[in-house]
Amino acid sequence: VKIVAVDLSVASWPIADGARLPGRSREWPDTDLGYLRLVSDEGFTGESLWGALDTPASLDAPHIARWLRPLLVGEDPRQRERLNAKLMSMARYTGYRAVGAVDLALWDLFGKAAAMPLNQLIGSYREALPAYASSQIFDEPGPYLEQAMELKERGWRGYKVHPPKTPNDDLAIARDLRSALGEHFMLTLDGAWSYGLKDALYLGRGLSECAYEWLEDPLRQDDIYGYQELRSKLDIAVVATEQPEGTLESYVPWVLMRATSALRGDVATRGGITAILKAAHLAEAFGMNYELHYGGNAFNDAVNVHIGACLKNTEYVELQLPEPVHAYGLAEGSVVVDAYGMVRPGVGHGVGVTVDPEVFCSNKTTTF
Ligand SMILES: [Mg+2]
Repeated sequence: VKIVAVDLSVASWPIADGARLPGRSREWPDTDLGYLRLVSDEGFTGESLWGALDTPASLDAPHIARWLRPLLVGEDPRQRERLNAKLMSMARYTGYRAVGAVDLALWDLFGKAAAMPLNQLIGSYREALPAYASSQIFDEPGPYLEQAMELKERGWRGYKVHPPKTPNDDLAIARDLRSALGEHFMLTLDGAWSYGLKDALYLGRGLSECAYEWLEDPLRQDDIYGYQELRSKLDIAVVATEQPEGTLESYVPWVLMRATSALRGDVATRGGITAILKAAHLAEAFGMNYELHYGGNAFNDAVNVHIGACLKNTEYVELQLPEPVHAYGLAEGSVVVDAYGMVRPGVGHGVGVTVDPEVFCSNKTTTF
């Protein structure tokens, strides 16, 4: 099998008013979504979508076109390890998101050529796993409670609160959620790099008392000594490493310094499935979980379910709210949470989704 063409297009991704992420200065502008298509000489195509609400695809499209496309034409998609190394060597120019978009399409192409779903190619560990919802930022406690209660009624098992980032109010919201949802509902709080050490300690102690599963990213992303101190003083799990771009090696100090209770990662920003699997296995060797950051778009969320189903040391799939915004771009195969709060990998070949041709026809802005 040989790659004969790499098609790239970008479509606008309108964020309807009712779905805008609310909260302090969080009126998100419209964004755009990229569609990458690897065409093989045997007629199979490998596809991926890239771009997220905070990182429009148009940021990365010129890098993929300029630096990565020339490396792919004529290559055999079965040699993913060699190709990933080749693509990673260009990350100094392209960033890892561009590499991730290509890596996902390579796996999808291989799955289609091999007539197997992605989870079977990787090696399945489980049939299904629980999803949890990740909140927007609200100014008031009310919407968090309403949202989480509604999800619980639909069968969801977990909720991550992104609070307004004033420690007293944040802890009050966290306690209200615990009272409303009962003791068995999985709850976490994500600080998104917003607190200092003192506030993080205060919050961590409070969350520990109301049985939160973990405190996520309380300190700034690279404050590894601060995280080390937090972990030594708190009973609750403290989890970092979700979002920064970086290679497998970037996890090493976090593991060796015991600065995070679990490793986290994003399939787009870490360089694709090839990179995520290595990082998850690194965590496994140290008895740590590897928890997946939500994918940024509907395609990557579907990929996350496949990966989660293949990792012994992953417990959950994260899905960002509001739901309609994040389903954009797929005609079929968006992740569905069932009445028991579980998600299952697609059964079609490769990732097992169908990109919405309408989106990339009527909303197309640019072809690269
Ligand atoms: Mg997070």
